[in-house]
Amino acid sequence: MTTNEPLPDLKPVINAAGTMTALGAAAANREAIEAAAAILTRAVDMSELHGAASLAIAQATGAEAGCVTACAAAGISVAVAAAMTGDDLARIERLPDTGGLKNEVVLQKGHNCHFSGEIAQMVRLAGASVVEIGAVNRARGYQLEGALGERTAAALYVVSHQTSQAGMIGLEEFCAICQARGVPVLVDAAAEYDLQGFLARGADLAIYSAHKFLGGLTAGIIAGREDLVRACTLQECGIGRAMKVGKEGIASTIAVLRRWQALDKEALWRRETARAARAAGKLQDIAGLAVSLEADPTGNPVTRVRIEVDAAHTGIDAGALSLGLAAGNPAVHVRAHDSDPGSILLDPCNLSDADMDHVCRCIAESVAASRSGIAPAG
Ligand SMILES: *Cc1c(COP(=O)(O)O)cnc(C)c1O
Repeated sequence: MTTNEPLPDLKPVINAAGTMTALGAAAANREAIEAAAAILTRAVDMSELHGAASLAIAQATGAEAGCVTACAAAGISVAVAAAMTGDDLARIERLPDTGGLKNEVVLQKGHNCHFSGEIAQMVRLAGASVVEIGAVNRARGYQLEGALGERTAAALYVVSHQTSQAGMIGLEEFCAICQARGVPVLVDAAAEYDLQGFLARGADLAIYSAHKFLGGLTAGIIAGREDLVRACTLQECGIGRAMKVGKEGIASTIAVLRRWQALDKEALWRRETARAARAAGKLQDIAGLAVSLEADPTGNPVTRVRIEVDAAHTGIDAGALSLGLAAGNPAVHVRAHDSDPGSILLDPCNLSDADMDHVCRCIAESVAASRSGIAPAG
């Protein structure tokens, strides 16, 4: 820790969990920080800055236009608002009162996940109501057809490891059904690396986080159809005002989109995969742990280390192991979504090789300590 550390009382944190809001999202990259620093002390014409952002988003995503919001969660609310109001300022100013407007947003039940906020609440925040279709593990096109009606403003499609991964309507079919009825499809792709595919496959708007894999400051990106993006931008005169993004968020988002396009992504992914493989190598001989490398469930180019913890051998279950690591100093956070059925994951994206080595050492020590507790040496 450096001497000019502004918050010396905060416990240091090593993030092996991935890009988590609760851990301050991703480590911002140099380009994001420099762009923010350069604009923070200057006056700027915000509409000109928004125009530059739209161009940068269009270039990176293949969309007609784009806008920057406070975050992806705000992007969902703003996109839903845009679908309800269009560019009608009277309607925009009336939200979240939706009297007289189409105000239903159709969502597959298996897509209504909790990303540390609930998808449906981000929809309701705009004044819309959610119409869920299907069951948690099964939805079909006829159910979508049946749900689209006079009051439908939009349909929302969520791409995330946190949704049901099987039994859902595929994006192309979803878009085709909605398009035939003139209903815009909004895709929440907050954590997805694919900046072009969802729009190319038929989405009207795609929503991303700038502070996840892109490594920007906290912000959200909406990309897509020009008329809808314009309606999104206009929400700053309405509910969007309460979730507005500052100049630093917009400037850094432009910078990270440019950086991402120029980046040698293959080299980055090779480094991250090597980091994961090295961690797996360090852990695989520990009795009671079954260690494997695992591809990302939604096809992002991330390879993680899965550690299945056999509590009968180690004396500690996956949940207790992850809590113990987080209680250390530095706090070590692992990816613990699956700790109930008994495993944890290590994500190689937001930490150095040395930090990953430290994580492995802490896991080995925790298991050794608990084993000596249940089966004393000798
Ligand atoms: C992270 C995430 C969000 C929220 O993104 P923020 O930019 O942090 O608001 C929304 N949806 C999904 C699927 C996410 O993974």
